[in-house]
Amino acid sequence: MSSFFQKIVKLFSYDIGIDLGTANTLVNVKDQGIVLREPSVVAVKGDKVLAVGDEAKRMLGRTPGSVTAIRPLKDGVIADFYITEEMLRYFIKKATARYYLIKPRVLIAIPSGITEVERRAVKESAEAAGARRVHLIEEPMAAAIGVGLPVQEAAGNMIVDIGGGSTEIAVISLGGIVSNKSIRTAGNDLTADIQAHMANQHNVKVGSTMAEQIKINVGSAIPNLDNPPEPFVICGPNKINALPMEVAVTHDEIAHCIDKTIQKMENAIRDALEQTPPELYADVVRNGIYLAGGGALLRGLAKRFSDKFEIEFKVPDDPLHAVAKGTGVALKNINRFSFLIR
Ligand code: ADP
Ligand code: MG
Repeated sequence: MSSFFQKIVKLFSYDIGIDLGTANTLVNVKDQGIVLREPSVVAVKGDKVLAVGDEAKRMLGRTPGSVTAIRPLKDGVIADFYITEEMLRYFIKKATARYYLIKPRVLIAIPSGITEVERRAVKESAEAAGARRVHLIEEPMAAAIGVGLPVQEAAGNMIVDIGGGSTEIAVISLGGIVSNKSIRTAGNDLTADIQAHMANQHNVKVGSTMAEQIKINVGSAIPNLDNPPEPFVICGPNKINALPMEVAVTHDEIAHCIDKTIQKMENAIRDALEQTPPELYADVVRNGIYLAGGGALLRGLAKRFSDKFEIEFKVPDDPLHAVAKGTGVALKNINRFSFLIR
Protein backbone atom coordinates (compact mmCIF):
# COMPACT_ATOMS: atom_id res chain seq x y z
CA MET A 1 0.00 0.00 0.00
CA SER A 2 2.61 2.43 1.03
CA SER A 3 4.70 1.52 -2.01
CA PHE A 4 1.66 2.19 -4.21
CA PHE A 5 1.34 5.52 -2.51
CA GLN A 6 5.03 6.23 -3.03
CA LYS A 7 4.65 5.41 -6.70
CA ILE A 8 1.83 7.91 -7.03
CA VAL A 9 3.85 10.55 -5.25
CA LYS A 10 6.79 9.75 -7.51
CA LEU A 11 4.57 10.14 -10.56
CA PHE A 12 3.61 13.60 -9.50
CA SER A 13 6.98 14.91 -8.41
CA TYR A 14 10.41 14.68 -9.87
CA ASP A 15 13.70 16.46 -9.59
CA ILE A 16 16.10 17.94 -12.07
CA GLY A 17 19.57 19.35 -11.65
CA ILE A 18 20.91 22.06 -13.92
CA ASP A 19 24.52 23.08 -14.52
CA LEU A 20 24.03 26.63 -15.68
CA GLY A 21 27.45 27.12 -17.25
CA THR A 22 28.86 30.07 -19.18
CA ALA A 23 29.60 27.80 -22.15
CA ASN A 24 27.26 24.82 -21.72
CA THR A 25 24.07 24.05 -19.86
CA LEU A 26 23.48 20.47 -18.76
CA VAL A 27 20.28 19.01 -17.37
CA ASN A 28 20.30 15.96 -15.12
CA VAL A 29 16.93 14.31 -14.53
CA LYS A 30 16.78 12.23 -11.36
CA ASP A 31 16.97 8.49 -12.10
CA GLN A 32 17.71 9.18 -15.79
CA GLY A 33 21.06 10.97 -15.68
CA ILE A 34 22.21 13.73 -17.98
CA VAL A 35 19.57 14.13 -20.66
CA LEU A 36 20.72 17.32 -22.28
CA ARG A 37 23.90 19.26 -22.91
CA GLU A 38 23.69 22.30 -25.12
CA PRO A 39 25.62 25.55 -25.47
CA SER A 40 24.37 28.42 -23.28
CA VAL A 41 23.51 30.54 -26.28
CA VAL A 42 20.31 32.31 -27.26
CA ALA A 43 19.66 33.84 -30.70
CA VAL A 44 17.42 36.91 -30.59
CA LYS A 45 15.95 39.36 -33.02
CA GLY A 46 14.85 42.53 -31.28
CA ASP A 47 13.34 41.08 -28.11
CA LYS A 48 12.11 37.91 -29.78
CA VAL A 49 13.94 34.64 -29.03
CA LEU A 50 14.61 32.77 -32.29
CA ALA A 51 16.59 29.78 -31.05
CA VAL A 52 18.29 28.38 -27.97
CA GLY A 53 21.19 25.98 -27.45
CA ASP A 54 22.65 23.95 -30.34
CA GLU A 55 20.53 25.71 -32.90
CA ALA A 56 21.49 29.15 -31.61
CA LYS A 57 25.19 28.24 -31.51
CA ARG A 58 25.10 27.29 -35.18
CA MET A 59 24.00 30.88 -35.78
CA LEU A 60 26.98 32.35 -33.86
CA GLY A 61 29.16 34.29 -36.27
CA ARG A 62 26.76 33.51 -39.11
CA THR A 63 23.93 35.83 -38.15
CA PRO A 64 22.63 38.59 -40.40
CA GLY A 65 22.69 42.06 -38.90
CA SER A 66 19.32 41.96 -37.19
CA VAL A 67 19.92 38.65 -35.38
CA THR A 68 22.25 38.48 -32.40
CA ALA A 69 23.48 35.41 -30.61
CA ILE A 70 23.76 36.10 -26.88
CA ARG A 71 25.62 34.20 -24.19
CA PRO A 72 23.52 35.22 -21.20
CA LEU A 73 26.12 34.10 -18.66
CA LYS A 74 29.12 36.07 -19.64
CA ASP A 75 32.31 35.65 -17.57
CA GLY A 76 30.53 33.64 -14.89
CA VAL A 77 27.97 36.33 -14.12
CA ILE A 78 24.50 36.83 -15.50
CA ALA A 79 24.72 39.41 -18.23
CA ASP A 80 21.05 39.30 -19.14
CA PHE A 81 18.26 38.14 -16.81
CA TYR A 82 15.46 38.05 -19.34
CA ILE A 83 17.49 35.92 -21.75
CA THR A 84 18.64 33.64 -18.92
CA GLU A 85 15.01 33.04 -18.03
CA GLU A 86 14.10 32.25 -21.64
CA MET A 87 17.04 29.86 -21.85
CA LEU A 88 16.11 28.08 -18.61
CA ARG A 89 12.51 27.81 -19.74
CA TYR A 90 13.58 26.17 -23.01
CA PHE A 91 15.96 23.70 -21.37
CA ILE A 92 13.56 22.75 -18.56
CA LYS A 93 10.79 22.21 -21.07
CA LYS A 94 12.97 20.20 -23.43
CA ALA A 95 14.36 17.95 -20.69
CA THR A 96 11.00 17.30 -19.10
CA ALA A 97 8.65 17.14 -22.07
CA ARG A 98 7.28 13.77 -20.99
CA TYR A 99 6.24 15.10 -17.59
CA TYR A 100 4.39 18.04 -19.05
CA LEU A 101 1.70 18.04 -16.36
CA ILE A 102 4.04 18.17 -13.39
CA LYS A 103 6.35 20.90 -12.27
CA PRO A 104 9.83 19.75 -11.26
CA ARG A 105 11.87 20.56 -8.22
CA VAL A 106 15.03 22.12 -9.58
CA LEU A 107 18.57 22.34 -8.22
CA ILE A 108 20.71 24.83 -10.11
CA ALA A 109 24.48 25.03 -9.87
CA ILE A 110 25.51 28.67 -10.03
CA PRO A 111 28.96 30.26 -10.23
CA SER A 112 30.24 31.00 -6.73
CA GLY A 113 31.07 34.56 -7.76
CA ILE A 114 27.50 35.72 -8.34
CA THR A 115 25.85 38.27 -6.09
CA GLU A 116 22.82 37.86 -3.84
CA VAL A 117 20.73 39.83 -6.33
CA GLU A 118 21.82 37.49 -9.14
CA ARG A 119 21.03 34.44 -7.00
CA ARG A 120 17.52 35.71 -6.44
CA ALA A 121 17.19 36.44 -10.15
CA VAL A 122 18.22 32.87 -11.07
CA LYS A 123 15.66 31.50 -8.62
CA GLU A 124 12.92 33.72 -9.94
CA SER A 125 13.86 32.91 -13.53
CA ALA A 126 13.66 29.18 -12.87
CA GLU A 127 10.32 29.57 -11.08
CA ALA A 128 8.98 31.64 -13.95
CA ALA A 129 10.39 28.99 -16.30
CA GLY A 130 8.24 26.28 -14.70
CA ALA A 131 9.99 24.99 -11.58
CA ARG A 132 7.92 24.05 -8.56
CA ARG A 133 10.74 24.71 -6.11
CA VAL A 134 14.20 26.01 -6.79
CA HIS A 135 17.34 25.31 -4.81
CA LEU A 136 20.81 26.60 -5.54
CA ILE A 137 24.20 25.03 -5.03
CA GLU A 138 27.57 26.60 -5.64
CA GLU A 139 29.22 25.23 -8.73
CA PRO A 140 32.55 24.15 -7.14
CA MET A 141 30.57 22.28 -4.46
CA ALA A 142 28.53 20.50 -7.13
CA ALA A 143 31.73 19.72 -9.05
CA ALA A 144 33.36 18.29 -5.91
CA ILE A 145 30.32 16.10 -5.24
CA GLY A 146 30.29 15.11 -8.91
CA VAL A 147 33.88 13.85 -8.86
CA GLY A 148 33.13 11.93 -5.68
CA LEU A 149 35.01 13.97 -3.10
CA PRO A 150 33.92 13.45 0.52
CA VAL A 151 32.64 17.01 0.90
CA GLN A 152 31.04 16.46 4.30
CA GLU A 153 34.18 15.19 6.02
CA ALA A 154 36.51 17.29 8.11
CA ALA A 155 39.23 17.20 5.49
CA GLY A 156 40.35 19.77 2.97
CA ASN A 157 39.59 19.03 -0.68
CA MET A 158 40.38 21.38 -3.49
CA ILE A 159 38.69 21.65 -6.85
CA VAL A 160 39.63 23.81 -9.85
CA ASP A 161 36.79 24.12 -12.34
CA ILE A 162 37.88 25.70 -15.63
CA GLY A 163 34.81 26.54 -17.69
CA GLY A 164 34.27 28.82 -20.65
CA GLY A 165 33.95 32.19 -18.93
CA SER A 166 35.32 31.63 -15.46
CA THR A 167 37.70 29.51 -13.44
CA GLU A 168 36.40 28.63 -9.99
CA ILE A 169 38.75 27.38 -7.33
CA ALA A 170 37.48 26.21 -3.99
CA VAL A 171 38.69 24.42 -0.90
CA ILE A 172 35.88 22.43 0.67
CA SER A 173 35.62 20.94 4.13
CA LEU A 174 32.70 19.90 6.36
CA GLY A 175 30.19 20.66 3.64
CA GLY A 176 31.24 24.25 3.20
CA ILE A 177 33.50 26.30 0.97
CA VAL A 178 36.40 27.34 3.19
CA SER A 179 38.24 29.46 0.69
CA ASN A 180 37.48 30.24 -2.89
CA LYS A 181 38.70 32.27 -5.76
CA SER A 182 36.88 32.99 -8.98
CA ILE A 183 38.56 34.62 -11.96
CA ARG A 184 37.15 35.59 -15.31
CA THR A 185 39.97 33.91 -17.17
CA ALA A 186 39.07 30.52 -18.62
CA GLY A 187 38.52 28.52 -21.80
CA ASN A 188 37.19 31.45 -23.85
CA ASP A 189 40.44 33.33 -23.26
CA LEU A 190 42.48 30.38 -24.52
CA THR A 191 40.31 30.37 -27.63
CA ALA A 192 40.80 34.13 -28.06
CA ASP A 193 44.60 33.71 -27.70
CA ILE A 194 44.55 31.14 -30.50
CA GLN A 195 42.44 33.39 -32.70
CA ALA A 196 44.89 36.27 -32.23
CA HIS A 197 47.89 33.99 -32.80
CA MET A 198 46.47 32.73 -36.10
CA ALA A 199 45.93 36.30 -37.30
CA ASN A 200 49.32 37.61 -36.12
CA GLN A 201 51.61 34.67 -36.87
CA HIS A 202 49.92 33.05 -39.85
CA ASN A 203 48.01 36.00 -41.31
CA VAL A 204 44.90 33.85 -41.39
CA LYS A 205 41.53 34.89 -40.05
CA VAL A 206 39.71 32.27 -38.02
CA GLY A 207 36.40 32.60 -36.19
CA SER A 208 35.99 31.63 -32.55
CA THR A 209 34.43 28.26 -33.44
CA MET A 210 37.44 27.36 -35.58
CA ALA A 211 39.85 28.61 -32.90
CA GLU A 212 38.07 26.36 -30.39
CA GLN A 213 38.46 23.42 -32.79
CA ILE A 214 42.22 24.11 -32.91
CA LYS A 215 42.30 24.17 -29.09
CA ILE A 216 40.44 20.87 -28.82
CA ASN A 217 42.46 19.16 -31.58
CA VAL A 218 46.00 20.31 -30.81
CA GLY A 219 45.77 22.59 -27.76
CA SER A 220 48.41 21.97 -25.12
CA ALA A 221 49.53 23.60 -21.89
CA ILE A 222 53.12 22.43 -22.35
CA PRO A 223 55.32 22.34 -25.47
CA ASN A 224 56.79 18.89 -24.85
CA LEU A 225 53.99 16.34 -24.69
CA ASP A 226 54.61 12.61 -24.34
CA ASN A 227 52.02 11.80 -27.02
CA PRO A 228 51.79 14.89 -29.21
CA PRO A 229 48.79 15.09 -31.57
CA GLU A 230 49.25 15.35 -35.34
CA PRO A 231 49.27 18.94 -36.62
CA PHE A 232 45.76 20.20 -37.30
CA VAL A 233 45.16 21.67 -40.75
CA ILE A 234 42.75 24.56 -41.01
CA CYS A 235 41.61 26.66 -43.93
CA GLY A 236 40.71 30.33 -43.77
CA PRO A 237 41.07 33.61 -45.62
CA ASN A 238 44.43 35.36 -45.78
CA LYS A 239 44.14 38.45 -43.60
CA ILE A 240 45.68 40.66 -46.26
CA ASN A 241 44.39 39.47 -49.66
CA ALA A 242 41.44 37.26 -48.59
CA LEU A 243 42.77 34.33 -50.64
CA PRO A 244 42.16 30.91 -49.09
CA MET A 245 45.04 29.62 -46.96
CA GLU A 246 45.82 26.28 -45.40
CA VAL A 247 47.80 26.22 -42.17
CA ALA A 248 49.03 23.19 -40.23
CA VAL A 249 48.86 24.11 -36.56
CA THR A 250 51.06 22.31 -34.04
CA HIS A 251 50.58 21.72 -30.31
CA ASP A 252 53.84 23.44 -29.32
CA GLU A 253 52.95 26.74 -30.99
CA ILE A 254 49.60 26.65 -29.20
CA ALA A 255 51.39 25.97 -25.91
CA HIS A 256 53.37 29.17 -26.43
CA CYS A 257 50.43 31.33 -27.46
CA ILE A 258 48.24 30.34 -24.48
CA ASP A 259 51.06 30.42 -21.92
CA LYS A 260 50.22 33.83 -20.42
CA THR A 261 46.57 32.93 -19.91
CA ILE A 262 47.53 29.71 -18.15
CA GLN A 263 49.88 31.71 -15.95
CA LYS A 264 46.84 33.75 -14.82
CA MET A 265 45.12 30.52 -13.82
CA GLU A 266 48.25 29.49 -11.94
CA ASN A 267 48.30 32.81 -10.08
CA ALA A 268 44.69 32.25 -9.02
CA ILE A 269 45.48 28.72 -7.81
CA ARG A 270 48.45 30.10 -5.84
CA ASP A 271 46.19 32.76 -4.24
CA ALA A 272 43.68 30.08 -3.28
CA LEU A 273 46.41 27.91 -1.78
CA GLU A 274 47.75 30.90 0.16
CA GLN A 275 44.30 31.56 1.62
CA THR A 276 43.91 27.95 2.72
CA PRO A 277 44.30 27.34 6.47
CA PRO A 278 47.43 25.25 7.19
CA GLU A 279 45.61 22.11 8.41
CA LEU A 280 43.50 21.99 5.29
CA TYR A 281 46.51 22.81 3.13
CA ALA A 282 48.18 19.65 4.42
CA ASP A 283 45.05 17.66 3.44
CA VAL A 284 45.10 19.18 -0.04
CA VAL A 285 48.75 18.24 -0.54
CA ARG A 286 47.96 14.71 0.61
CA ASN A 287 44.72 14.28 -1.41
CA GLY A 288 45.76 16.10 -4.56
CA ILE A 289 43.65 18.65 -6.42
CA TYR A 290 40.84 17.79 -8.83
CA LEU A 291 40.36 19.60 -12.12
CA ALA A 292 36.86 19.91 -13.58
CA GLY A 293 35.15 21.69 -16.47
CA GLY A 294 36.07 21.61 -20.15
CA GLY A 295 39.43 23.28 -19.48
CA ALA A 296 40.54 20.16 -17.58
CA LEU A 297 40.69 18.39 -20.97
CA LEU A 298 43.51 20.60 -22.24
CA ARG A 299 46.54 18.41 -22.94
CA GLY A 300 49.35 18.71 -20.44
CA LEU A 301 47.45 21.01 -18.08
CA ALA A 302 47.34 18.65 -15.10
CA LYS A 303 51.04 17.87 -15.61
CA ARG A 304 51.96 21.54 -15.84
CA PHE A 305 50.06 22.39 -12.64
CA SER A 306 51.41 19.32 -10.82
CA ASP A 307 55.02 20.28 -11.67
CA LYS A 308 54.46 23.92 -10.80
CA PHE A 309 52.82 23.40 -7.39
CA GLU A 310 54.39 20.07 -6.45
CA ILE A 311 50.90 18.79 -5.67
CA GLU A 312 49.21 16.12 -7.79
CA PHE A 313 46.46 17.47 -10.05
CA LYS A 314 43.92 14.87 -11.14
CA VAL A 315 41.48 14.86 -14.04
CA PRO A 316 38.22 12.98 -13.43
CA ASP A 317 36.75 10.70 -16.12
CA ASP A 318 34.29 13.16 -17.42
CA PRO A 319 35.21 16.70 -16.33
CA LEU A 320 32.54 18.33 -18.54
CA HIS A 321 29.84 16.44 -16.64
CA ALA A 322 31.17 16.86 -13.10
CA VAL A 323 28.86 19.69 -12.04
CA ALA A 324 25.73 18.16 -13.58
CA LYS A 325 26.55 14.79 -12.02
CA GLY A 326 27.04 16.53 -8.68
CA THR A 327 23.58 18.10 -8.87
CA GLY A 328 22.14 14.60 -9.42
CA VAL A 329 23.94 13.19 -6.39
CA ALA A 330 22.92 16.20 -4.31
CA LEU A 331 19.25 15.77 -5.29
CA LYS A 332 19.34 12.12 -4.25
CA ASN A 333 20.72 13.18 -0.87
CA ILE A 334 18.79 16.40 -0.50
CA ASN A 335 17.90 15.63 3.12
CA ARG A 336 21.41 14.63 4.09
CA PHE A 337 22.99 17.45 2.07
CA SER A 338 20.40 20.08 2.97
CA PHE A 339 23.03 22.34 4.47
CA LEU A 340 24.89 22.41 1.15
CA ILE A 341 21.85 23.63 -0.73
CA ARG A 342 19.89 26.82 -0.41
P1 ADP B 1 31.00 26.23 -18.43
O1 ADP B 1 30.87 25.47 -17.15
O2 ADP B 1 31.49 27.63 -18.24
O3 ADP B 1 29.76 26.17 -19.26
P2 ADP B 1 32.41 23.96 -19.54
O4 ADP B 1 32.87 23.26 -18.33
O5 ADP B 1 31.27 23.37 -20.28
O6 ADP B 1 32.15 25.51 -19.27
O7 ADP B 1 33.69 24.08 -20.49
C1 ADP B 1 33.65 24.81 -21.68
C2 ADP B 1 35.05 25.19 -22.06
O8 ADP B 1 35.87 24.02 -22.19
C3 ADP B 1 35.09 25.89 -23.41
O9 ADP B 1 35.98 26.99 -23.34
C4 ADP B 1 35.63 24.81 -24.32
O10 ADP B 1 36.34 25.38 -25.42
C5 ADP B 1 36.56 24.05 -23.41
N1 ADP B 1 36.85 22.70 -23.86
C6 ADP B 1 35.98 21.72 -24.19
N2 ADP B 1 36.61 20.61 -24.58
C7 ADP B 1 37.94 20.89 -24.52
C8 ADP B 1 39.14 20.14 -24.83
N3 ADP B 1 39.10 18.88 -25.26
N4 ADP B 1 40.33 20.77 -24.63
C9 ADP B 1 40.39 22.02 -24.18
N5 ADP B 1 39.31 22.78 -23.88
C10 ADP B 1 38.10 22.22 -24.06
MG1 MG C 1 30.87 24.82 -15.40
